[in-house]
Amino acid sequence: MTLVPLPAFADNYIWMLQLESGAIVVDPGEAEPVLDALARSQARLAAILVTHHHADHVGGVDVLRQATGAMVFGPAGETIPEPYRPLGDGDVAEVLGLPFSVIDVPGHTAGHIAYFLPAHAAPDGVPLLFCGDTLFSGGCGRLFEGTPQQMLHSLDALAALPGATRVCCAHEYTLSNLRFARAVEPTNDTLARYQADCEALRARGLPTLPSRIDTERSINPFLRSRQDSVRATVGAHAGLPPQAPDTDVFAALRQWKNNFR
Ligand code: ZN
Ligand code: FE
Repeated sequence: MTLVPLPAFADNYIWMLQLESGAIVVDPGEAEPVLDALARSQARLAAILVTHHHADHVGGVDVLRQATGAMVFGPAGETIPEPYRPLGDGDVAEVLGLPFSVIDVPGHTAGHIAYFLPAHAAPDGVPLLFCGDTLFSGGCGRLFEGTPQQMLHSLDALAALPGATRVCCAHEYTLSNLRFARAVEPTNDTLARYQADCEALRARGLPTLPSRIDTERSINPFLRSRQDSVRATVGAHAGLPPQAPDTDVFAALRQWKNNFR
């Protein structure tokens, strides 16, 4: 199998998973990068997985469905280009013999879903996560339709996946996320080393993704909002009392990031 991020727009990735029996793409905001990749590899597009309704994730769905006859899967709770197979928490999307488990991850949008392929079902034995705009490397999606409480719960569910899980996010936001993460946790050495590694990748024009769940647990402030180090800086920044509830700390962290330059 091969797993490649196809660049689209300014900073989107359309993930393409290719097996001998065909290809799967995730969140094709535009069709051209996918059609080009299919032509290069002489592959058949079997399925399109959609995580949420935003145009930069669904803009290419109709063209690709028409050109290839691919099956489309997407969140039951959102408006996705029809026809598609609606999915929700606990459903399994079976594509090319691979059973993708669906996890509800509301927050960025109200009906956002993620697709998880466990180790035993992955062709190379390494678990795989397509998380759209919910979890980014070093960050998380903006709260357009959901509450901080929902997003914290969604990120908790993703953080609980196996550490070796490859995290396939839909945007290359890593470097700007890590600049913010360093402001939140200036003494996190793992984070500092990860930032240097990611800067070196981007300097060579390479993606910083996929990340890993265990990496994100060590460096992503939005998965670490209950850590004393994060509570301390967020509390000082937002003027929270020391005993502030977890959701208040998370909300203040997200707000701080929104205004961070
Ligand atoms: Zn989005
Ligand atoms: Fe997006």
